[in-house]
Amino acid sequence: MSANRFAGPDGPPATRDKDAGSRVLLKRIREIMAEPMAPQQRLDRIVAQIAQSMVAEVCSVYALRADGVLELYATVGLNPKAVHQSQLRLGQGLVGTIAASSRPLNLAEAQKHPAFEYLPETGEELYNSFLGVPILRAGRTLGVLVVQNEAHRAYGDDEGEAMETVAMVIGEMIATGDLRSLSSAGVELDLAKPVTHHGQPLSEGIGLGHVVLHEPRVVVTAMFNDDTQAELERLAAALSSLRLTIDDMLSRGDVAFEGEHRDVLETYRMFAHDKGWVQRMEEAIRNGLTAEAGVEKVQSDMRARLSTVTDPYLRERMSDFDDLANRLLRQLISGEPSHGAKSLPEDAIIVARHMGAAELLDYPRERLRGLVLEEGAPTSHVVIVARAMNIPVAGGAKGVVAMSDSGDAIIVDGLSGHVHLRPQPDVEAAYAEKVRFRARRQEEYRTLRDRPSVTADGHPVSLLMNAGLLVDLPQVEQSGAAGIGLFRTELQFMIAATFPRAEAQERLYRSVLDAAAGRPVTFRTLDIGGDKVLPYFRNAPDEENPALGWRAMRLALDRPGLLRTQVRALLKAASGRELRLMLPMVTELHEIDQARALIMREVKHLSRFGHGLPLTLRIGAMLEVPSLLFDLDGLMEKVDFVSIGSNDLFQFMYAADRGNSRVADRFETLSPTFLRALKSIADAAARHETPLTLCGEIAGRPLEALALAALGITTLSMSPAAIGPVKAAILKTDMAALRAAIADPLENGSTGADIRDIIREYAEAHAIAL
Ligand code: PEP
Ligand code: MG
Repeated sequence: MSANRFAGPDGPPATRDKDAGSRVLLKRIREIMAEPMAPQQRLDRIVAQIAQSMVAEVCSVYALRADGVLELYATVGLNPKAVHQSQLRLGQGLVGTIAASSRPLNLAEAQKHPAFEYLPETGEELYNSFLGVPILRAGRTLGVLVVQNEAHRAYGDDEGEAMETVAMVIGEMIATGDLRSLSSAGVELDLAKPVTHHGQPLSEGIGLGHVVLHEPRVVVTAMFNDDTQAELERLAAALSSLRLTIDDMLSRGDVAFEGEHRDVLETYRMFAHDKGWVQRMEEAIRNGLTAEAGVEKVQSDMRARLSTVTDPYLRERMSDFDDLANRLLRQLISGEPSHGAKSLPEDAIIVARHMGAAELLDYPRERLRGLVLEEGAPTSHVVIVARAMNIPVAGGAKGVVAMSDSGDAIIVDGLSGHVHLRPQPDVEAAYAEKVRFRARRQEEYRTLRDRPSVTADGHPVSLLMNAGLLVDLPQVEQSGAAGIGLFRTELQFMIAATFPRAEAQERLYRSVLDAAAGRPVTFRTLDIGGDKVLPYFRNAPDEENPALGWRAMRLALDRPGLLRTQVRALLKAASGRELRLMLPMVTELHEIDQARALIMREVKHLSRFGHGLPLTLRIGAMLEVPSLLFDLDGLMEKVDFVSIGSNDLFQFMYAADRGNSRVADRFETLSPTFLRALKSIADAAARHETPLTLCGEIAGRPLEALALAALGITTLSMSPAAIGPVKAAILKTDMAALRAAIADPLENGSTGADIRDIIREYAEAHAIAL
């Protein structure tokens, strides 16, 4: 059987003939596309043209609807009455199998295929051979294109290729909306289908808005080529400049491209030379596409396959190809739209596979309503920054980039991690109500901003905020915080590409003190290591248990240069004001002595050179390693203040990794055992009159905050957004009554959620929102 059945022009020799055949087909389709006519008529003309060119008795197009049904949209050869009547479910019959797998089927005896199903209304029993290809766009299957013949015919690879190329054109017709109105039952096409992704909640809040693809999909408008050779040359030029860029990045020896980054680049280089990939793109161009349409066709194929691959390694590799194809497309199409303020909707929800923290800061904050990531973990830098900016984030939403189009309506629920793409009206209405409710609550909290934070029975509870970046600073005023209880200095280091210079550190610290306008600010010295990785820190060891590894004070004391520079910057920035320095991850008391000696040496050094010094200097310690629990008196004597880092203290006491969702929520933070440990700290602080704060996440949850206040921990530092809700709860609580209510389980209980239940009941009885 011939490998080529195209009714090509005038039978030129075999190899050129097959390309010429598909080019002629594409040329005819281009003419049909250019003529003004109704969408149905255009589709009918296209199937007729394909049938004629491929010498097929049947050619049909099925479009995938939002309800998962493939509807016959156009045919020649089958019963015309079946158009918009004949339907198959996804996975049903040969057409359904192609759509479900996103793979073509080429069969000489269709009836013998196990998936074959006969639809009587179509009259297709006559036809033996069958070639069907998925209609793909950006990796999504939008329908199926089929040709059939009576004869037992084996279709050639080139015919499959030509069909895929034409299918791409039909995919564009579907995507641009030409065919949307044709469906029989008024059901929307799949492209407009609502989709819900169950991701991971990474930053609280709810955002309603419209999709902005962080890497805007390059829109290929020129599909058909006029000059194959010229297009092949364009592809070759783009490829070689892509390869050069990668080589250049690799040879630059930039620290930003060390470690994992380098591995990715090496992989890209390998792929950029991959013969199979290049050949497939060239083939698409020979079939009549432009270079960019060729790249997109091959990329779309790859994406479709990606969706069915489960092996994580393979997925990763295939998405590397995907990234590479994107870069190539950008090379080919210059003047891509940038996401400057002008092109950004007022209610932008950024959708990205992954993103750097600095990239998020490039977007104008006032237009951002949310962020959706395919990757991203609670501790990834971009998430830390988003949280600081009070932007809801959902992560782990696999496949969301391929499913979304710029401008699609989208809802991100940072409380549950759900992402609703093109939501149904009732879902949208429910969320809009939630947002209104939250806004009303926020308004109530705002009215509390200047009210002193005092319990109903007159006990003051001081509420401070946690911060770490410039973007946090306006919140000092807006939230009504009494000061900054924890300034995480490592965040500046985490979002930078190299070690921030001493001047940059000093500048930031000075801005923080200016923004605090006389309110106390506690700067925590660098808490790097563990999960807080600096990609440019070359000496970072590869540790099996980084949380228990060379981090924070351990690293600072072993490599004093870093701490010295930072302390000097802090001392200079606080000249003439109060400076509060806090040491993270203290494990043994002598570490405080060592750090104090280093700090005092810097004080001496600066004063010797005539620099202004802080008016007062207070040195405190984080209490987050359980070893300190057994020398509380020694600790309280040694420092000017203590802050409990409950995130780490809980993780180490319960041996439960705080970043691992399987174990992080397994144990009750309000268990009597943990609360007794906290109470012993509060009692020791009171005995020694050492000021005590708590700055872990539990401080920002109203229910937990009430429990902490009842234990005697009455200075709490939390995210600025939590200050309103916590203050509202404090104002309505009679602390003596609550303390009495939890006294018994606190003293005698061992496990369980008794204390939580008691506080919840108390809150319900007193109309306290938790
Ligand atoms: C803590 O451990 O509770 C804390 C506040 O510090 P971080 O979350 O930065 O480790
Ligand atoms: Mg900590």
